[in-house]
Amino acid sequence: MLPDVKHIGHGLPDHDSLVARDARHVLHPWADLSTLGTQESLIIAEAHGIEVADSAGRTYLDAIGGMWCVTVGYGHPELVEAMAAQARKMAYFTPFGDVSSEPAARLAAMLADLTPGDLNRVQFTTGGSTAVESAVRIAHYYFASRGQAAKRHVLSRVNAYHGGTYLTASLSGKSADRTLFQYESDWVHHLESPGYDPDTSPVSAAERLDGLVAGMERAIAGIGAENIACFVAEPILASGGVLVPPPGYHEATLELCRRNDILYVSDEVVTGFGRLGHFFTSEAKFGVVPDMIVTAKGLTSGYQPLGAVIVSDRIAESLAANADRDKPVFSNGFTYSGHPVACATAVANIEVMRRDDVCGHVLDVGPYFIRRLRELRSSSIVAAVRGDHLMACVECHVPGEDGPTARNQALARRVDAYCEEAGLLVRPYENLCIMSPPLIITRGEVDRIVDIMADSLARAEHDLR
Ligand code: PLP
Repeated sequence: MLPDVKHIGHGLPDHDSLVARDARHVLHPWADLSTLGTQESLIIAEAHGIEVADSAGRTYLDAIGGMWCVTVGYGHPELVEAMAAQARKMAYFTPFGDVSSEPAARLAAMLADLTPGDLNRVQFTTGGSTAVESAVRIAHYYFASRGQAAKRHVLSRVNAYHGGTYLTASLSGKSADRTLFQYESDWVHHLESPGYDPDTSPVSAAERLDGLVAGMERAIAGIGAENIACFVAEPILASGGVLVPPPGYHEATLELCRRNDILYVSDEVVTGFGRLGHFFTSEAKFGVVPDMIVTAKGLTSGYQPLGAVIVSDRIAESLAANADRDKPVFSNGFTYSGHPVACATAVANIEVMRRDDVCGHVLDVGPYFIRRLRELRSSSIVAAVRGDHLMACVECHVPGEDGPTARNQALARRVDAYCEEAGLLVRPYENLCIMSPPLIITRGEVDRIVDIMADSLARAEHDLR
């Protein structure tokens, strides 16, 4: 899918001093503070196709997809050209009020076309967190403007990840991230984590579903439906550990929302844009038409920061019809909401994905990826392999020890380090090795990932003896 062949791995002449400058001056997102000042960061300097190269000149197969986001591969000439052309033509102008840009108008119409039902109104943001946060603000405004200001509580789930702003971090439910920050808890509620693994679960999928639905019903009754604005949910929980809910979960939770006049916000920041073989999975895969869909990451294949919340006409029309007559301004948005260069990149990305049938490719290679990864379950240090199409994880454990214990986390870090040594980047989280490769990955590259994972697991298993 990439016409030009490019050699990467040249390295940078000032590699050592870059590492030193990074260690001295950068406060990395999600950094381990115990290594502040001494960390030796991997500085990624070049990338092409599904490979990246660091500043020392070492190359790696990128099984992380940047960060769930690089879909059509690195260095795609059409995306690069779209970015450059828009920057030359008009790099930036305010998106506020009644001002817009050509790429934003084009992209909004394309997104309306790609989303199900009457989701036709797009508010652009700067990324996933700002899009989730905007969705909650829209839900709040929607109910407040209809005289139901009490409806402002938000339902999320344990193990969810919705972003790094204060509100979206409050919505997130990963215990590892719940550190010294004081998150909003008066009106944010976490339902049970909905993952279901048929390989390891002691109960049937139907029993698990019943339990989850009953839990949500109890939570709604306890809080009071008259106080709840929305339910925010990733179709498959991504960075919380690639947790796949039991069949029927999405329909059942949507039905509960409908019955209780709670808006359903589908966070498709990871699951959207082809990772599961569809532009959006809510309806295509899970049979639900949400009130709002949030997207980011794969929207631009990670080439530019951009997010969007796509809202139903029903909600958008209500916002307009019931707006405060004295102050009808919807006061939400950012300087770089729908940045023209980012929107032009997304337009090119969608055109490439459609033309090359990238989703069709994922529907073919995705099941092969999961099938091959599942072979790794024969290792004694693999507790589980979970996933769907091109989002997956390998859960590591010291045999007989369950969960993200300190020893299990250390073991996963060791597997991760062996992978890196062998030229494969996977993403460590607790005792998991998470994978979300670019969608253009071939079967041969899947085999390389599985081979390196198998060797790394064998080395780590040997170290335990
Ligand atoms: N929602 C989900 C499901 C995510 O995985 C992420 C980021 O990983 C976000 C929201 C936040 O997106 P961003 O980091 O672009 O703000």
